[in-house]
Amino acid sequence: MKKNITIDLISDTVTKPTKQMLEAMISAKVGDDVFKMDPTVNELQEKAAKMFGMEDALFFPSGTMANQTAIKLHTQPGDKLICDKYAHVYNYEGGGAAFNSGVTCKLIDGNRGMFTAKQLEEAVAGRNDIHVPFSSLVCIENTTNKGGGACWSFSELEKLQKISKKNNLSFHLDGARLFNALVAKNENPKQNGALFDTISICLSKGLGAPVGSILLGSKVHIAKALRIRKLFGGAMRQVGFLAAAGIYALDNHVERLAEDHQKAQEIGTVLKSVPYVTKVETIETNIIIFYVDEKIGADNFINKMKEKNILLTPMGEGRIRIVTHLDYTNEMHEVLLKELKNF
Ligand SMILES: *Cc1c(COP(=O)(O)O)cnc(C)c1O
Repeated sequence: MKKNITIDLISDTVTKPTKQMLEAMISAKVGDDVFKMDPTVNELQEKAAKMFGMEDALFFPSGTMANQTAIKLHTQPGDKLICDKYAHVYNYEGGGAAFNSGVTCKLIDGNRGMFTAKQLEEAVAGRNDIHVPFSSLVCIENTTNKGGGACWSFSELEKLQKISKKNNLSFHLDGARLFNALVAKNENPKQNGALFDTISICLSKGLGAPVGSILLGSKVHIAKALRIRKLFGGAMRQVGFLAAAGIYALDNHVERLAEDHQKAQEIGTVLKSVPYVTKVETIETNIIIFYVDEKIGADNFINKMKEKNILLTPMGEGRIRIVTHLDYTNEMHEVLLKELKNF
């Protein structure tokens, strides 16, 4: 391996399309998708809807826009969205929930981005009191990003769904890394399709497409989403070139996520064995969060690794994040493990 090659572990969004994916892209049949005349986009949407056993699906340029569209279609201005304090929709979408939909977020103090049915019940209590914002939507994230790739227990999700239904709340899943959860827990998309009103999935994270997310839901919800996507500026034209990357990713890059998870476990084992690491959070999928000795310091550690062309992310409060992905090769893995052991 060349000495100056960069090992980029900042996120699973850093991947570039493989040769085969690029070939699928350049040979795609395209048309004007605003007139629903792009056959490849239609194929991707039908494929995804079928995969999840949901009625319909819509292709989006980003996960943020797919989530923001879901929030918009489930709420009215002044309403309340209930989510974990770590939620991407609250922390990382630029205040979009407030800006686009005029909703406030009720944050639940969960564990690694996940909360319990009991906590949800407490958060919904007093829904009919006119003093408090009207609860209309519950958003959960699987896997949790800020929670270090943690996966929900399916039985807890079933309980949350029951509570949401009983209280007339819509139930949205931010599934940017849902396939990581499904692979790690050996679950299938249809189980999730049956539980949620809407689901967003990212094609550009672990699945390795350059762009794209999908929102899944009922025909009624997706018809509304189509209007909102236009309003948000997300209606695209000959976008089948990108949809082709998504189709290729769904066909070829789901099962291999297990390799990313395996590498994450091996990195975790090394981190737990070295004296300068004070804590490694539970690793369930492709995200590793750990802490180094205060005498070294997170920023300093990240800078030292950067000098070796190994890129990691600070996550605040002394936390350091590593994310494994499609472009993180076995060769890079050997180099990383060696550098971590020798630090
Ligand atoms: C990455 C991510 C998104 C969407 O991000 P985009 O960069 O807009 O595609 C949404 N939710 C979670 C949990 C994410 O990790």
